[in-house]
Amino acid sequence: MALMKILTYPDAFLKKTAKPVTVFDDALKTLVQDMAETMYEEPGIGLAATQVGEDKRLFVMDVFYNNEDPESKKTPVAVINPEIIETSGESSIEEGCLSVPEFRAEVKRSAELVLRFQDMEQEIHELRAEGLMAICIQHENDHLNGKLFIDHLPPLKRRMVQNKLKKQATK
Ligand SMILES: [Zn+2]
Repeated sequence: MALMKILTYPDAFLKKTAKPVTVFDDALKTLVQDMAETMYEEPGIGLAATQVGEDKRLFVMDVFYNNEDPESKKTPVAVINPEIIETSGESSIEEGCLSVPEFRAEVKRSAELVLRFQDMEQEIHELRAEGLMAICIQHENDHLNGKLFIDHLPPLKRRMVQNKLKKQATK
């Protein structure tokens, strides 16, 4: 296993719409393992393939693991070719992103959703999610469509944040 480099804003790759996964081989398994390891190391609760420069509709998540609790168990989920097929309600929490370091903002999202996705064995699952998991799924799914959480901010605030991040990036 290996840690991967996470792309940060304004890297153009983060704007890419990722391609569906069609080959479920050992290389994909390794990629999923490396992404999970990288996610725990950072730490984050989700990591999309786009963020590590892989053009694939795939993300890993674990909203339950607490790295400050030695009893906490890692239960990474690999979500391949995700599709949000139902949403309801409204919710917002302060979000952050490994690709947008040192910035957090509240983002309006759906409170509940149904996610259809494939696992490593190509089996199709439907998962009903709410709370933090629903937020995480929407955030990671956005990455696969070339969208960052700051893209949800009102235009003026978004521009301010983008300028600040661009300045940081050139330092
Ligand atoms: Zn993110």
